[in-house]
This record gives sequence, C-alpha cells and structure tokens, in this order.
Amino acid sequence: MDEPETTADHVREAGSRDFGSEVHGDVAGDRWSGAGYGFETLAIHAGQDPDPTTGAVVVPIYQTSTYVQSEVGEHKGYEYSRSGNPTRTALETCLAALEGGRTGLAFASGLAAEDCLLRTVARPGAHVVIPDDAYGGTYRLFSKVLERWGVSHTPVPLGDLAAVSRAMRPETVLVWCETPTNPLLGIADIAGLAEVAHAGGARLVVDNTFASPYLQQPLALGADVVVHSTTKYLGGHSDVVGGALVAADVGLGEELAYHQNALGAVPGAFDSWLVLRGAKTLGVRMDRHCANATRVVDLLQAHPAVASVLYPGLPEHPGHEIAAKQMRQPGGMVSLRLAGGEGAALQLCRSTTVFTLGESLGGVESLIEHPGRMTHASVAGSQLEVPSDLVRLSVGIETAEDLLADLQRALDGL
Ligand SMILES: *Cc1c(COP(=O)(O)O)cnc(C)c1O
Repeated sequence: MDEPETTADHVREAGSRDFGSEVHGDVAGDRWSGAGYGFETLAIHAGQDPDPTTGAVVVPIYQTSTYVQSEVGEHKGYEYSRSGNPTRTALETCLAALEGGRTGLAFASGLAAEDCLLRTVARPGAHVVIPDDAYGGTYRLFSKVLERWGVSHTPVPLGDLAAVSRAMRPETVLVWCETPTNPLLGIADIAGLAEVAHAGGARLVVDNTFASPYLQQPLALGADVVVHSTTKYLGGHSDVVGGALVAADVGLGEELAYHQNALGAVPGAFDSWLVLRGAKTLGVRMDRHCANATRVVDLLQAHPAVASVLYPGLPEHPGHEIAAKQMRQPGGMVSLRLAGGEGAALQLCRSTTVFTLGESLGGVESLIEHPGRMTHASVAGSQLEVPSDLVRLSVGIETAEDLLADLQRALDGL
C-alpha cells in the first residue's frame, strides 16, 4: 500500500469523489500509524501491540494507580495513573492514528476534553466563535462557565463563512466547529473555516463526535484540533462516558497533555478499555448506521406526518455538496420535523418500540428524543433554541426492516 500523504490536498483530491477521504498522521512511538495501513487496521492495531510481558493479544486493563520505581526517579515511563496509564496510552495512540493527528489525549467525558482545550488556549479577555446550533453542553460551558472567567463567545451560523469572518476579533483564539451539527444536522465547510480562522490568527477546533473519524477527518482539512465525546460513536455501545482531543501538531499536543495532567479529568483504565474496544469496530458499525439511516430517511420522506427531514445525504440539504466533499458517508443521525407540531413530536417519541426514548447517540441501539425538551432544554430562550416540532433519531444497527416497521407504525398512529 502506498504511503498516505497527510496533507489537506490529499483529502481535497479524494473529496472530488462522492463521499470519500482517508488520511493518517504519524503518532510518536507507534509502528502502525503513518505506515500506510487502512482505517480498520489502525482501529484494531494502532497502539495495541500484544502485551510485552504476557503476550496478551488484547491490551490489558491496567487497574493500578501507581508503578514501581527501580531507583528513585527510575521507571518504565509510568509513575502515577493521572499522568499516564498504559490502557489509556493505547487508546490515546489509537485515537490519534484514527484522526491522522500527532497527539491523542483521553478524558473522563467530552466536556472534560472541551474544558481542557479551552483552559489551554484561552485566557481572560479571549474570544471564541461558536456555532449558533452548538451542542447544548458546549454552549452551557461557554455561556455559564467561561463567560464568568472572562472568555467571551459569539454564536454564528457556521455555514456562512462571511459571517464567521465578520465575527473574528483580534482577541479571537478559536473558531469552534461542529459538523454535522446537533440536532439540526447543519454542515460547515471545514477547509473554508480553517482558512478563515488561520487568517484571523485563531485555531480551528472541530467537534467530530457526530461524524466520527471514520466518516470525516478534520485535521487533514486544516483543523488544528479535534474534540470527541467518545461516549457516542467511538465507544458505540452506550456503556461508557468519555472524551478525547487529538492535536495536529506536537507543540499544541504537549500543551494539552500538560493541562490534561494538571486539571486531572482523565478516564479510568476500564473506561479507556471500553472506548478502545468500541473503536475496533467503528468502521463496520458506521457503515451499518449509515445504511440504516438512508432507509429511515426514505421512509420519513414518504410519510405525510413528516413535514421535513434533515439529513446531509439528501441532495436538497443545503450542506449536501460540502458534506459529500468532506465526509465518507452522511452519517447515522437523522432529524425530522412533524407536520403536527410539538404535540405530534412528543407523541412520536412515546410511540416507538425499537427506537428507545433517551438522550445520547451513536450506540448500536436506535434512540429517539425530543431535543427541545431533552438534550437542548438548556438552550431554551437563547439564540440556540431548537424548533419544538423537531425529533432526533440516532439510527442504530438493528435489522433495518424492524426499524422501518417501528417508525411506520408510530407515524401512522399520529
Ligand atoms: C455528547 C456530546 C458532547 C459532550 O460529551 P460528554 O461525553 O457528554 O461530556 C459534546 N459534543 C457533542 C456533539 C456531543 O454529542
């Protein structure tokens, strides 16, 4: 296999195919990343060589807080598990390889990762441009926590590059991007945003939770750092809460690693192991999530109770062209607006059987939720408020016919 290039050009070229692209960086100390292996091979092997002492094929859960020193200050690279733990290192190496970055860092949650990033790059007086439909918890972090520490933010529709450009100030340190966005599935042009951010002396961070590194690799498109809630597709089984940062360059990676240890919101060994286990099957799961989502979209579009379907795979979606350029496939999340308004939306949420009513997303099981009253209740009354007739589906990997029959029955009953 040819050595993959790690340049944005490579992805732009690949992007001329409909939904394509795959690029990998070179992670320090890992013989898999940067060696030309494909995504699934990296997911299964990067950072995960057999255990040198026992030969265990699967990375063990190193459930230990401390490590023996042969002499004062002499150890095998681990002294205390907040600073480093071998199970966590395996996960961090794998995540960096999957995103094509140089440094991966794992956290106790997605928000812990975001907090670490912000405290690393922002000082009092700093300003951040955020999406006007950011994930509710991200918006809360900016509006209720960072605001008090003197970090200001401007919500902007990221699909409008000119508006982003106008929102930039001399003190802007970050442009915060989510694409696809939650829950409206808006699409932002990552390469375009990177240019705008860099022209203004700021960094571009992309929350890649919804796409996952299998579908989209922001670093190759010019982003400086990627954020994940690994709770979602990377973990993939709704059994762990976790987060991650992947930095494109070693310098920022070192600063982030310093703050990861200083702030201390690290995941335990078992949680790291669960995310690593999930990551191994990310590619095959995402293929099925996307295939099932496409069938669900077809059904929704044909049903009279549905006023509109929000899905980047639809040619009429305003971000379709950009999504096709920067994503391998359009993803497993589907949002819809009900013709019958909020009442119908709430009724649909309580009428499904296979789709479980619950927050979160990205697990093997299908979930349904009402963003206005559930995940996005914290943005009610703000500029980020979501429509009350909106329902969000996280399409799982169950048998497609069962998902379709479940939705058909529930929609027919409205
Ligand atoms: C869930 C989520 C987060 C927050 O992650 P936690 O693991 O819940 O802290 C951030 N961004 C997006 C897009 C999410 O869906």
